[in-house]
Amino acid sequence: MNFIVIFSDIINYLMPLFAEIKNSLLHLAFPHVCESCGTDILDNNHLLCLSCVANMPVTNFHLHPNNPIEKIFWGRLAITHATSQYYFTKESMMQHLMHQFKYSGNRELGLYLGKLMGEMLANSNRFLHIDALIPLPLFASKEKKRGYNQAAVLCEGISSVLNKPVWYDVVKRKTSTETQTRKGRVERWANMENRFQLINTHKIEGKHIVLVDDVVTTGATLEACGKELLKTENTLLSVATLCFSTL
Ligand SMILES: [Zn+2]
Repeated sequence: MNFIVIFSDIINYLMPLFAEIKNSLLHLAFPHVCESCGTDILDNNHLLCLSCVANMPVTNFHLHPNNPIEKIFWGRLAITHATSQYYFTKESMMQHLMHQFKYSGNRELGLYLGKLMGEMLANSNRFLHIDALIPLPLFASKEKKRGYNQAAVLCEGISSVLNKPVWYDVVKRKTSTETQTRKGRVERWANMENRFQLINTHKIEGKHIVLVDDVVTTGATLEACGKELLKTENTLLSVATLCFSTL
């Protein structure tokens, strides 16, 4: 009997050690470095090193009413709150990360960035009482090519921190439009009108929903989708994007 107790004590003592050895071996086999600077070796819960996270160009717009993102929608869309988490500039860390996430299939990175968004939104009482997150729908053909909708991945990350549901079945994108680059604001808007369709009105009645996308520039796409969502009665609409680009 005593022997069994001693034996199980030894096993209990050794188990964490085995786990640690296993993790170290995994690190040796699959070195996991910071997605941004590529230097530091990180544990499995982090994709960016502390120094890179500290250097991310945070806007802190989530704390401030009448911030530049809310001003984009003034007179265009009756939003409750709006924020973008990071400034997007050319040849910056954010451009590199966005490229990894959107064009190199790095879904994990998007999930991680979504979690960073969730952590920041959790610190703002302006986003405390929301009911659900809605990813801006992507063209079906683009989603198929990319393998995921980047806005939906961000929503998953936010949801894991805020414990709010992600609703995929409220609004859809009707048809594919021409590429938006090189178009001015008016042209973009004319191009976007009626491109979205509400498919589940009752779900958002009386709810405060947050429309999520990766980048806001002119706000034309978010405005078009938001207008469709606000056709519902008593719905409050807020907007949150990962980046704010003035390019
Ligand atoms: Zn780094």
